[in-house]
Amino acid sequence: MARAIKNTTRAPRPEQANRHDELRVMLEQRRQAMIDELHGRLRGVRAESAQRTPEPPDPGETADVDIQGDIEFALIQMKAETLDKVNEALARLDEGRYGHCFDCGHEIPAARLRAMLFAVRCTECEQTREDRGRSHGPKRDPAGVLALQR
Ligand SMILES: [Zn+2]
Repeated sequence: MARAIKNTTRAPRPEQANRHDELRVMLEQRRQAMIDELHGRLRGVRAESAQRTPEPPDPGETADVDIQGDIEFALIQMKAETLDKVNEALARLDEGRYGHCFDCGHEIPAARLRAMLFAVRCTECEQTREDRGRSHGPKRDPAGVLALQR
């Protein structure tokens, strides 16, 4: 009853809304892809452990299976983390905070967001942060992960 007045202070300009609509679609597609893949992988892991025959373990083979399992687990964890980031980005989008730099508050260019859907800083601030981070050792952030994959 008391909330009859709608909060219109965050009403985005039309071009802003379009930009966010496009990114929302991309985020939602990414989320669905992550969910599908997670389900697929979890099914695969279950099927594999069901197939595994309870033979007396051969030391060499078990080690191999363990490594496989570790890789699979790491992949699942990576997907789950990506899913978390997608959900976080969608929540920020709903709050009208998505696409704005955490540090300087400026709009993050749409091209950067398309390339890095979870970018939380503009290119400049990210660069400054990376330069600063280098002297403090490796930091756990999306840019750092991408650098490692190169
Ligand atoms: Zn910035």
